[in-house]
Amino acid sequence: MTIKCISCEETLEKDDYACVTIGEDAGEPLCWDCESDDLAEAVVSAKKTSDGETYCCGNYTSYAEDPDIESYFDTVKWTSTDAWRGYYSGSCPPGYKKVANTWFCGTDGFSPSDEFDALHSLFESDKLDDLDVIYAFPRTSNVFSTGLEVYVRNNHVELFKSLLKEV
Ligand SMILES: [Zn+2]
Repeated sequence: MTIKCISCEETLEKDDYACVTIGEDAGEPLCWDCESDDLAEAVVSAKKTSDGETYCCGNYTSYAEDPDIESYFDTVKWTSTDAWRGYYSGSCPPGYKKVANTWFCGTDGFSPSDEFDALHSLFESDKLDDLDVIYAFPRTSNVFSTGLEVYVRNNHVELFKSLLKEV
């Protein structure tokens, strides 16, 4: 049986390849070149405030050490809005609630969300260090704009909302 890379379809040597780690193709073979390119062009980065580490995922792999971020990365998918455009997005990890789903412009900071400035200030502060809040930044086809999804652990939602009102 011939083993092929799921990404570039190159024929692989037996026992000398990586594997897809996330999504519905988890466990499928991936050549080392595609594995290395995958995280070099990450599609989402995410940080849990109580953990402080920023993790990335590509289309095929992620090595997030946080189980909540890992399960979020597992759901990330591309949505096409037309032949050339689209965006990546994920779904709420178990035990969390989605509190924001918007986008912002990387050059002037514009966001259509009324809460964006408050979300940004909270993210930059140390007020969330004891809470499980995941800030995820999925890529879009527009190089100037980035998605923003915020998920809060169920029992931290009320406190998060009150902190958001204070900033
Ligand atoms: Zn490949």
